[in-house]
Amino acid sequence: MRLSGKRAFVTAAGQGIGRAIAEAFVREGAQVVASDLDAAKLSGLDGAQVMALDVTDRAAVQGAVRDAEADILVNCAGYVHGGAIEEASDSDFDMAFALNVKSQFHTMQAAIPGMVARGGGSIVNIASVAGAILAAPNRFIYGASKAAIIGMTKSVALDYVTKGIRCNAICPGTVDSPSLHDRLRAMGDYETAKAAFIARQPMGRIGTPAEIAHLAVYLASDEAGFTTGQAHIIDGGWATG
Ligand code: NAD
Repeated sequence: MRLSGKRAFVTAAGQGIGRAIAEAFVREGAQVVASDLDAAKLSGLDGAQVMALDVTDRAAVQGAVRDAEADILVNCAGYVHGGAIEEASDSDFDMAFALNVKSQFHTMQAAIPGMVARGGGSIVNIASVAGAILAAPNRFIYGASKAAIIGMTKSVALDYVTKGIRCNAICPGTVDSPSLHDRLRAMGDYETAKAAFIARQPMGRIGTPAEIAHLAVYLASDEAGFTTGQAHIIDGGWATG
């Protein structure tokens, strides 16, 4: 098993990409702490220790991460605000940065001292192709927040490379998850919106959370020992042009 002997902490593990990552980590032999704002969503996540955790609660987050003594940290919590800059409010901007960006700052800050003391670790931050690599339509706030994750990822990677800590970001294209279906419904005509999202993926389909989890397992494992500070694109070809 590729993660045996390792301890992992995963945020937003209740559904979608975070859940697939937590399940894959359990299958690969890691001891997993799976957290989510909504504890009910964690039911059925067999083999993991589950906990309710709001990643915007700095004290709770930092306490939980320290207690987990994790070798692997996966930051998956995020929210997609729609709209161009003219529709963007300060409160939505602040909320996006608190949830998508500052939470990762806080979890990494709490995890790093233990990783240094134990001789290393692997941090995987979930960003997005949107914002971090290319502009997606009507994703002003979301794109800004996901681009910020790349900056934090590179900074941590460089500052801790000699301490055995690797820090990478994953930039997914459109992936099938409960919130994707919410966004498609919110666009009015679900089928038309879905067709438009599929059309921008050259592979002609949306990705699966399991496909993102495969990359997370690799980055978390020692197989990725020579990889740090990178924005790993996994997007069905969307960013090829
Ligand atoms: P999702 O959006 O369907 O689920 C998000 C989960 O986050 C839920 O379980 C929710 O309870 C939890 N959550 C919300 N607020 C929280 C908080 N304050 N603290 C802790 N947990 C909280 O899942 P998804 O679509 O797989 O997205 C997961 C991550 O992947 C996000 O960061 C998202 O931006 C990113 N991403 C998703 C896609 C996609 O197409 N689905 C593409 C690129 C990047």
